[in-house]
Formats: sequence, C-alpha cells, structure tokens
Amino acid sequence: MSISQHLLQKYADLIVRTGANVQPGQIVLLTIAVEQHEFAAMVIEACYKAGAKKVNVDWTSDVQSRLNYLYAEQETLSRVLPWEEAKMKQMVEDLPCRIFIESEDPDAMKEIDPQKLSDVTQSRAKVMKPYRNAIEGKHQWVIAAYPSEKWAKKCFPEDDDAMDKLWEAILKTVRVCEDNDPVAAWKDHTDFIEKKAAWLNEQGFASLRYRSANGTDFRVDLIPEAKWEGAGATNPLNDAFYIPNMPTEEIFTSPMAGKCEGTLVAVKPLSWNSQLIEDFSITFENGRAVSCRAARGQELLERMLKMDEGASMLGEVALVPKESPVNQCGFLFYETLFDENACCHCAVGMGFKEVLPNGDDLTMEEAQKQGINDSIIHVDFMVGSDDLSIDGICPDGTEVPIFRDGTWA
Ligand code: ZN
Repeated sequence: MSISQHLLQKYADLIVRTGANVQPGQIVLLTIAVEQHEFAAMVIEACYKAGAKKVNVDWTSDVQSRLNYLYAEQETLSRVLPWEEAKMKQMVEDLPCRIFIESEDPDAMKEIDPQKLSDVTQSRAKVMKPYRNAIEGKHQWVIAAYPSEKWAKKCFPEDDDAMDKLWEAILKTVRVCEDNDPVAAWKDHTDFIEKKAAWLNEQGFASLRYRSANGTDFRVDLIPEAKWEGAGATNPLNDAFYIPNMPTEEIFTSPMAGKCEGTLVAVKPLSWNSQLIEDFSITFENGRAVSCRAARGQELLERMLKMDEGASMLGEVALVPKESPVNQCGFLFYETLFDENACCHCAVGMGFKEVLPNGDDLTMEEAQKQGINDSIIHVDFMVGSDDLSIDGICPDGTEVPIFRDGTWA
C-alpha cells in the first residue's frame, strides 16, 4: 500500500479534530475493525492529544459476524445480553464522543439468509432503541472510512491496485491531500453547505416536487417548523461543532411522515444488509410505499419496506449536486457513507428529530406528533439523476426552482 504515514496522520487528525471534535476531558468510544489496529492506534493517540480523558475501543470483525450468522441459532443471536445492555446504559451516562471507522467487506453477509439477518437486526434494534434515543443529539460522533482489501476488490474487481484506487477516492472525498490544509478545506466546504441550508430555511417551502425523464414524478410535504441541515451539528451540552459524516455533501431535512405521492426511481443500486437491490423504483400513496419494483432484489426491497410501521414512510430528503466528489469518482462504493453523498436521495424509515426546534429535547413520540417518522430502519436510496428537477412549492403555491439538471438551480 502506497499511502504515506504523513497522509494517514493528517487523516486521523482530521477525523478526531474536525470530525468528532474531541474536547478536553471527554471519553471517546472508537468502533473499528480488528484489521485496522494500526490506524486505530493513530486515532487513539490523536484523541489523547486532543485532551481525551479515556479512549475505549469496540473492536469489530465482519469475519466473526459472518461466522456467527452462519452457525449460531437465530434465537441466540437475537438476544441482547445483560452486559450488552449494561454497556448501553453506561454510554447513556457517559455520553462519549463516538468515532466509527468503516471498512466492512460489502459481501461479508452474502451467503447469510436475509430473513435471519433482518429478524436478528430487528429484535436487537428493538431492545437497543431506547438507549439510542436517549443519547441521540447529546453527544458528538463521526463516521469515516478506512479501506480494506475486500472492500477495495468489491469496488475494483479487475484491478491489481484496487487498494490504491479506493484510498485515492476516499482521500479525495474527504479533502485530504499531501499539500493542503484539510481543516481549512473543510471550513470552506461546511460554510458553503450552511449557506445553502440557510437559503432553504428562509424560503419556508411547504412541499417539494421532483421530476426526471427516468420516471421520477413525486411530491412530498415538508414539516413547516423543520429546518434543513447539513455538514455539521452542535452538541448542545458543550457547544462543540462536529461533522457526523466524512465525507458529507448533503443538505437534508425530515419531511412530513405520511404526506407524499408519486414515484421515485433509483439511479444507483442500493446495498442493504450486505445485499444488492438494483434498478428499482418505489411508489407512494398517502405517504406510504404501496408498491415497488426491482430488477434485482425485489423480495429484499419488499421486506425492507415492511420492517415495521415506519419503514414504508420517508424519514429524510436530501439535496446533493451531481458535481459531488463522490459522484465524480464514478463508481459505487457499496457503502452508504459514500454512496449517499453522490447525489440527491431520500430515505425510508426513521427521521431526524433534531431538525425540529428544540428537537433534541423531544422524545421520539413527541417528534412523531410533529411529523417525524419513526422506525428501526433508515435506508437511503439515490434519486439524483443528471436531469433531475426539484421545485420548492411555497405555502401560497409559488414554485421556486431548487435543482435543475441535477444541480443547484
Ligand atoms: Zn442522507
């Protein structure tokens, strides 16, 4: 692997300082694959240099996960053990700064029965959800990526230098290169996104209308009080500004659950539970997905939309211009962190209560009453075709172009 220590160090520092923005005295919880222990060491040290009080690590292994799913009973896997719950309780108490480094093999779960996978995910998520809700909006977190051999091979099956190619792409999308100051580059980038988000918030659109020659013809109502957000978030407990996703290109909000009509046609494959859904569209009536069509993965898509009550309703709409560096890389990363930053997308499932005024203080039930969707899933799918038009419709019926030909109008 040809990436220099200098670049790796810059990347680790960027994740810790700009991404998670670790504050002196904070506890950090790093989640990273065992294979990436060398990079983990760099991240841990960067956290301590930023003043972390203690850095804990959750080591993950997709090999172990695969073997568990292959050999262990569904019932065994579905059970959340008391120590796992105790760990979550501790997290609610500590509110650690969380750093997730993704390097998963997109095909890790390929031979696993998708029903088993989704059932286990579902029962575990139900137990974990109250804890997840309790920490939401009260801690800093960041998800970034580190390439693995298998992930690189998945993206570039024909190439001997697959790892180099994936590295190059990742560093491009997170704005790290030999001779730049990535912290300054991120400042410009987040300023641009925040300017656009502020414009959208000023407009106060009541709904959005999507149109594309590929068959997308869709209208969704927005929540009047909900804000458009992008790039970063602020931890209300200490005012630390952090960037939850690196890369990030999107400006997003949660639309009014149960208020949309029409068809959205996906422009990129969707990888869900390590399996692919390709060439698909979803049709909504009265705010719910009533039918879907997929050239590949039809059954999987149907199951996804039926995971629970909220899985058939939208939780997110996001705007990303087609010039996004992720889109310019021109390949599928098989990883939502990147693929969702390629172009405009929507997500079925859980919405974001933070987009509501004082949303962080609301319970999920209160947020739901204001139109935020609730679900155990949140799955993004890309609808940003090169000719996509999006119009904002004002409460008085006036239409304002937001996107034309896949980019800001
Ligand atoms: Zn998104």
